[in-house]
Amino acid sequence: MGIGASPGVAVGHAFILDRKRIRTPKLRLAEAEVEPERMRMKTAIDLSDRQLAELKEQITRTEGSDHALILEAHRLMLHDPMLVDEVNRLIVDDRINAEWAVRRVARKIKHLFDNIPDEYFRERRSDVDYVADRIIRNLMGQVVDEEVEVPAEAIVVAHDLSPADAALMARSGRVAGFVTDLGGQTSHTAIVARARETPAVVGAGRASEQISPGDLVAMDGTRGVILVNPSEEQLSVFREEQRRYQESERLALMTKDQPAVSTDGYRIRLNGNMEFLEEIPSLLAHGAEGIGLYRTEFMFLDRKTAPTEEEHYRAYRQVLEAMGGRPVTIRTLDLGGDKVPGKTKHEKEPNPAMGLRAIRYCLSNRELFRTQLRALLRASVHGNLRLMFPLICGVSELREARSELEACRTALGRAGVPVGKRFPVGIMVETPSAAMIADRLAQEADFFSVGTNDLIQYSLAIDRQNREVAYLYRPLHLSVLRLLQTIIDAGKAANIPVSMCGEMAGDPLYTLVLLALGFDELSMTSGQIPVVKRFIRRVSRTDAVELLKGAMELTTAEEIERYVRTEMDRRFSETPEHPESSEPGQEPPPSDRTTG
Ligand code: PEP
Ligand code: MG
Repeated sequence: MGIGASPGVAVGHAFILDRKRIRTPKLRLAEAEVEPERMRMKTAIDLSDRQLAELKEQITRTEGSDHALILEAHRLMLHDPMLVDEVNRLIVDDRINAEWAVRRVARKIKHLFDNIPDEYFRERRSDVDYVADRIIRNLMGQVVDEEVEVPAEAIVVAHDLSPADAALMARSGRVAGFVTDLGGQTSHTAIVARARETPAVVGAGRASEQISPGDLVAMDGTRGVILVNPSEEQLSVFREEQRRYQESERLALMTKDQPAVSTDGYRIRLNGNMEFLEEIPSLLAHGAEGIGLYRTEFMFLDRKTAPTEEEHYRAYRQVLEAMGGRPVTIRTLDLGGDKVPGKTKHEKEPNPAMGLRAIRYCLSNRELFRTQLRALLRASVHGNLRLMFPLICGVSELREARSELEACRTALGRAGVPVGKRFPVGIMVETPSAAMIADRLAQEADFFSVGTNDLIQYSLAIDRQNREVAYLYRPLHLSVLRLLQTIIDAGKAANIPVSMCGEMAGDPLYTLVLLALGFDELSMTSGQIPVVKRFIRRVSRTDAVELLKGAMELTTAEEIERYVRTEMDRRFSETPEHPESSEPGQEPPPSDRTTG
């Protein structure tokens, strides 16, 4: 059992992706071992060089030369005296084994990078790790570059999956499902899986140890169920479920063009959340009326260098044009936290969720921010753009971000670069501080979009990456409901639209509550749109308001959940499936997730 993180049923053979950090063995050498150790090092360097050359050739053939240049830089690094000579010196002078020496030298080189003020060069630290890991794996005789060989229709099983790994594999179209030991409902890996409509079960304990390569795995990403080598009987139950899921998808798609309007005429706009351009057709097919959240930081995931202004511009232009005049809400980079540039870890902050992420990261990396803002301003010519800033905690941050935007607008104007008309500039409300001063923020923001993944994380003090506290993740906690009410009231008083784009928006269990609260828009992944719409179209807002009133008179999250569930049952005779579990409060305390 684990946490159902992306709906759908899949059956396939297990592909175990071993991404655990390699443990560097540490040995002291006898004098006679020194020379052979130097030879071992040389062999590992030669082998690494051959592997990189081969990889470079493959990538040049399939993807062009941009990525290949990075690999060429890695090859140069392999032969850099700063690395090789220093490793040999440690082997000879300190009599330590090659793996240990490589790790020590890599650490030292990374420290040098730390002190470079330029963001781009600082990020090269990840390349040092990449090269060092390759040498160490080769010294230890381990397999490298296995990520390129996911077999078709595989169930990828891993201890943990970085958002980049999940994104790249899901994009390859060869993955039938994901199972990971770590992770929670709102970790970005789960979000990527949902966006790609790939079933996923996360927080599955020790699945990656208990499942062997090639095992037949049947998984249900709605209920969080995993069966290894199931019997014929169990398999036929899964196949039946798979058939039912596909049938309900088919029916849901038929409602694509109907508006989300309650029986007494309250209209909510249903938008789509997206990370990749490839998701647009699926969003449109499921009836998205616009884009409520484009997580632009995902552009950084499969690469080690920041996208250029031109690349940003092309992506934004493409989504604006593809949406054909429908509103497209583009969020500026939400880097930091569990989303870090490059494949390896960012300089580790003691508490990344409360560290330099999102708007803070952009305001302290101005060039990176300006590159994106310039591209957005230029792209605004091509459609109905709405811009929003993530993790705004106070009015000063909003003012600073807006003034940066205006400075870019002026500079482009002076340079004669075409820029579109003024577009709405809003904020994500995802911290209790923003919620508490929503009335003031509403004076200076053109719209609000509530990010409940973070709002719940920060208000209930539960790390969204940590399985141990996943059971405390309660969107119906009275404090969350009160915060939501405060935000909506402030938005309504200032006459600005209020949307929600956190995961809570796409879970049908909460639909009536959100309808009652008075959201103007909800934004979710494509598969969730038809389901949420179905519930909205079957109730009256007056009735939903009654339900909310009753809920807010109760006290504990358990009481409120039980009440909402019973009331939904009474109205619909079918309780909406909760993606996490049938009883949110009953989720077993899960284990830690350490990486993003
Ligand atoms: C949120 O916090 O709810 C949100 C939508 O942003 P993200 O999940 O990207 O942090
Ligand atoms: Mg957020």
